[in-house]
Amino acid sequence: MSQAREYRYMIIGAHQDDCESSGGIALKLLDLGRRVRFLTATNGCSGHHLSMGGGLAARRQAEAERVSALTGVEYEMPDFDDGSLMPGLEERKAMIAAIRRFDPDVIITHRPWDYHPDHRYTSQLVQDSSFLVQVPNVCPLTPVMRRMPAIFYMQDDFKKPMPFSPDLVFDIDAVMERKMRMYHQYVSQMYEWLPWVGQLSRDPIPEGDEARFEWLKHTEFTAISAGYADRFRPQLQEKYGAAGANVRYAEALEFCEYGEQLTPEAARELFPF
Ligand SMILES: [Zn+2]
Repeated sequence: MSQAREYRYMIIGAHQDDCESSGGIALKLLDLGRRVRFLTATNGCSGHHLSMGGGLAARRQAEAERVSALTGVEYEMPDFDDGSLMPGLEERKAMIAAIRRFDPDVIITHRPWDYHPDHRYTSQLVQDSSFLVQVPNVCPLTPVMRRMPAIFYMQDDFKKPMPFSPDLVFDIDAVMERKMRMYHQYVSQMYEWLPWVGQLSRDPIPEGDEARFEWLKHTEFTAISAGYADRFRPQLQEKYGAAGANVRYAEALEFCEYGEQLTPEAARELFPF
């Protein structure tokens, strides 16, 4: 890899607010002046208990735009329906074209084992696209990539058929507050849908923007990143030495064997923190 190259990173999640699982990594890359694009494979039209369809998708698009304005991350949202994503040919071609247009060095996505079918199929679509992004006769009007991107899975807690295994770990303490600010932009999710569906604290949500943000910072979303720091403590200490013992919040990545296989030097160049 040449030093002069501008590295590009594509984080591919199923829904608005999924890419933020690697939000600390994204913020650190953006701070280095590198380009980061979030691609959500669905339009978000099902993630609510009161509103639905086009109105909800438009609201979630506006929320994603606020995250973009706040951080500088680019956002792309193909118009596949939330809750109905399939790993079909139409979806695969859309994924191949989206990856080629951005031409990333790195892709980060869900693991193919996950409770949500949209997450599983998003991962499947990335895997199905991984070789084909270089094949000129597939989607022939979209210029091919001349190399394979490195592909990684974002950390999760699922255990079967096998738990997440960290190849790269990251101290995100310095950007944790900003990561939570990203989540804070998804009002329809953090303060409405996720509490209703039981995936976030059911404690009463305070009124007012900053009061709500303080509430959010004391929910599972913060606890999850703290849990990863504990779970990956040995790897954090191996990477950061004694300082690894004091890391409060962490993220991690696992290599996907279908992407470019990076040397340790190349991985350090791509993630120099
Ligand atoms: Zn999701």
